Amino acid sequence: MLNIVLFGPPGAGKGTQSQKLIAKYHLVHLSTGDLLRAQIAAGTELGLQAKKIMDEGLLVPDEVVIGMIDNALQSNQQAAGFIFDGFPRTVAQATSLDRLLAGHGTGVQAMVALEVDEEELIKRLLERGKTSNRPDDQDETKIRRRVSVYHSETAQVAGYYATQAKFHALNGIGGIETIFGQICAIIDAHPTTTPATPAATMGEARSL
Ligand code: AMP
Repeated sequence: MLNIVLFGPPGAGKGTQSQKLIAKYHLVHLSTGDLLRAQIAAGTELGLQAKKIMDEGLLVPDEVVIGMIDNALQSNQQAAGFIFDGFPRTVAQATSLDRLLAGHGTGVQAMVALEVDEEELIKRLLERGKTSNRPDDQDETKIRRRVSVYHSETAQVAGYYATQAKFHALNGIGGIETIFGQICAIIDAHPTTTPATPAATMGEARSL
């Protein structure tokens, strides 16, 4: 399996690059932002709670997003791999992701961080806000809060993956194809994992 964490502040280009990576590597795209927006659109209780937090540009509680990822992994057991977009955003989410993937006999191969300076992010998000219909993309104060939350809470996740030698930073300003090529080079340098089959697991148990 190939599991990639695509990392970076809001507006860094994670969504655009995710679409290209899915097409090339046949991965399942798991964006916690998209999963939360689907809950809001469906009018669920979880969606109602999450909307208030998201509109403020703050982080939804860890257990909520971890639960959504757990469900998504369970319902995509045949996937060739996953691209995690906007998750993990805290160290607690990162450790939970390792635990959940280990339960499926796999793990994260690489974390790719797209780096873009704050003024460029504000410009991109305000532009996206004209068509995205996302309240959190339309107000500069909220956008700045999201970027500041990224720096204060989320950036520590980079350190978590650095200690596992899985962290790779890329300049997120440049041509879409150029950045895509750089991400692919990083991915291709990491070996994929083969999840343990029940037979293999039994074999291991017997040899103990
Ligand atoms: P995104 O679409 O990734 O920019 O996420 C939009 C909003 O959803 C964020 O500003 C958070 O309020 C919430 N959100 C998305 N993913 C997470 C996550 N992994 N942890 C906590 N909150 C999240």
